[in-house]
Amino acid sequence: MTSSAAAATPASAEPYPHLFAPLDLGFTRVRNRILMGSMHTGLEDRARDFPRLAAYFAERAAGGVGLMVTGGFSPNLVGWLKPFGGKLSWPWEVRPHKFVTRAAHEHGALICLQLLHAGRYAYHPLSVAPSKLKAPINPFTPRAMSARAVQSQINAYAAAARRARDAGYDGVEVMGSEGYLINEFTAPRTNRRNDAWGGTPEKRMRFAVEIVRRIREACGPDFIIIYRLSLLDLVEDGNQWDEIVAQARAVEAAGATLINSGIGWHEARVPTIVTSVPRAAFVDVTAKLKPHVSVPLVATNRINMPDVAEGILAAGKADMVSLARPLLADPQWPEKARSGRAHAINTCIACNQACLDHVFENKTASCLVNPRACAETELTYPKTFAARRIAVVGAGPAGLACATVAAGRGHRVTLFDAEPEIGGQFNFAKRIPGKEEFHETLRYFRHRLEETGVELKLSTRADAAALAGFDEVVLATGITPRRVDFPGADHPKVVSYTDVLSGRVTVGARAALIGAGGIGFDVAEFLVQEGPSPSLDPARWMAEWGVDGTFQSRGSLARPQPEPPAREVWLLQRSAGKPGARLGKTSGWVHRATLKAKQVKMLGGVEYLGVDDAGLRIRVDGAEQVLPVDHVVICAGQEPRRDLQASLLAAGRSPHLIGGADIAAELDAKRAIAQGSRLAATL
Ligand code: FAD
Ligand code: NAP
Ligand code: SF4
Repeated sequence: MTSSAAAATPASAEPYPHLFAPLDLGFTRVRNRILMGSMHTGLEDRARDFPRLAAYFAERAAGGVGLMVTGGFSPNLVGWLKPFGGKLSWPWEVRPHKFVTRAAHEHGALICLQLLHAGRYAYHPLSVAPSKLKAPINPFTPRAMSARAVQSQINAYAAAARRARDAGYDGVEVMGSEGYLINEFTAPRTNRRNDAWGGTPEKRMRFAVEIVRRIREACGPDFIIIYRLSLLDLVEDGNQWDEIVAQARAVEAAGATLINSGIGWHEARVPTIVTSVPRAAFVDVTAKLKPHVSVPLVATNRINMPDVAEGILAAGKADMVSLARPLLADPQWPEKARSGRAHAINTCIACNQACLDHVFENKTASCLVNPRACAETELTYPKTFAARRIAVVGAGPAGLACATVAAGRGHRVTLFDAEPEIGGQFNFAKRIPGKEEFHETLRYFRHRLEETGVELKLSTRADAAALAGFDEVVLATGITPRRVDFPGADHPKVVSYTDVLSGRVTVGARAALIGAGGIGFDVAEFLVQEGPSPSLDPARWMAEWGVDGTFQSRGSLARPQPEPPAREVWLLQRSAGKPGARLGKTSGWVHRATLKAKQVKMLGGVEYLGVDDAGLRIRVDGAEQVLPVDHVVICAGQEPRRDLQASLLAAGRSPHLIGGADIAAELDAKRAIAQGSRLAATL
């Protein structure tokens, strides 16, 4: 395969011609340039879940994706990510996979199995690694492998690939990035060996090359081998550019069919996929590799809309694009793009709340904006044969989901909101720097309201009289911000987060925030960042986080250069301990690091004594102090808003409650959308 043969040549008048140009791999053809990147869903670990896994892949294959990659399967027991995780080392483990491969092929997609040996990221005591070095994110210390053990890992890879072929897969993806075993061999950070497998860059990459060579030998010439190469390690003592180029060339020579981009080790302190990472932030490193190899290259990370994907391919920066979470969010993504309906895509907002965070909590993955993800066999929206008149009050995430699912099923739905625009609290969320993606969810719902024929009554506060005559009433009226009670709570300095985010109040140069939950953190980010958000500018974002934009330095790290904060901010909570401990598992650290870089003073164990003209008086560790602030912003949680419920009950109606109107504690959009959708599925 040569670069010119792989280049996406526009073939027709489709809106995204490069994206939908087929990719000829010689022995097989991918129908377009969309690769569904590997995602662990939690359905890989038990054979009994494979019919559900097959349904999940079938839906995405039917949506038009070209090539799919499964979640990671270990080639042997020591490479398990966690005890009893997915692996493919025994003959009897092959059969359940046939459900999956059949499902993909029936809908015209190709499918590869990812081979992932966790190395020192394995969460169990049997873990092995090139050297005995514990990862900073794992309590288990791995055993250093003997030369014989190294050979046995390579044998296991080749045998597992052969089994994948027997199961009907079109190929395998060899996971060589993100700090897992193969990447540990290639990097001086984790490979301290001085034998045939370490000591020089050539010896460090030998493990990777041998694995690819042996898989090619075991599986023959007509089998896809995707090699996921770490183009940016983003850790100290990671690989250097010339070493990465040498690895790319060597795995190509050993038989790789495609090279996929790997960005950042799991222990890296640079975010790589959360919502504040700019779209396609890392694509230039893939482009930089392009002249050095002739196999097709795949660009990845934060590519969530067709114009971004098309731009990458049209500029010749890559030959394919990898979309992972965007296909959880919308299985129809490729088909909608192909047919010129990008506005109908339910865009992944990169929140991680229902996908990665679930996997880290040992729960099945799903998607905040699409609760059907990984629940395809259980949560369905069948057409109704008995259309009813349904009133939904409140066009926040819960009401929008409920109204559109119910109308999509054939009910006649009227959606009320007191505000002049849909979205509820998402209209605050979208104003936070780094949360620009939330606009997309509102664009999607605007489209769905129109498409499903929901009657929308904006600027209309619903009351019991307006709701008479409906067969069902759903209250999705959300929340009211919690008020706090301390001396001076009514001082003009004291404002609510809604005053700040709506623009009703302009906060002075110094502010204290009372409450350090998700909203406290977001408001702090809003106050320290003025002007255009770095999330919209990859170069500024990389400078802030310390990524070497030339990709030349070892690990591609540079000195972080955060821009100065727009204000002096204190973020306070009553409970002891560090603020932010309860934020999302995979995104909380990014919020904490962002605020630290902006010199926000985060205090736990704070007692609020009162507010007066001097500022906010607090007691911490027994010592009183006055924070000389211009404003005190209350971000102290929320209470359900159900003022309509009593009058409806009095009129003999029994409304359904969803979202914040149901339970405000620990409410998030994931629960609001899932609850709205699930209720609508039953009406
Ligand atoms: P709401 O969004 O509060 O919507 C209720 C709607 O009902 C409002 O539009 C209101 O005008 C309307 N209404 C009320 N009474 C009436 C009436 N009588 N008649 C007509 N209309 C009425 N969640 C996440 O999961 N992830 C995040 O990253 C995230 N970030 C956030 C950032 C900020 C700054 C904020 C404020 C919230 C964030 N959230 C986030 C929380 C998320 O927005 C809420 O959980 C979600 O909006 C709750 O949805 P809901 O539909 O229950 O209520
Ligand atoms: P929250 O997470 O419950 O946090 C409320 C904060 O206020 C806590 O720090 C709480 O801690 C404090 N507090 C509560 N009662 C108080 C009182 N009477 N006086 C003083 N302080 C008080 O709620 P939130 O920040 O309002 O967020 C609402 C929901 O939106 C959350 O459930 C969250 O999941 C969601 N959200 C999510 C994200 C995200 O990125 N995933 C972002 C924003 C919002 P102490 O009692 O310790 O002070
Ligand atoms: Fe994307 Fe959030 Fe859905 Fe995950 S949960 S796929 S990050 S929208």
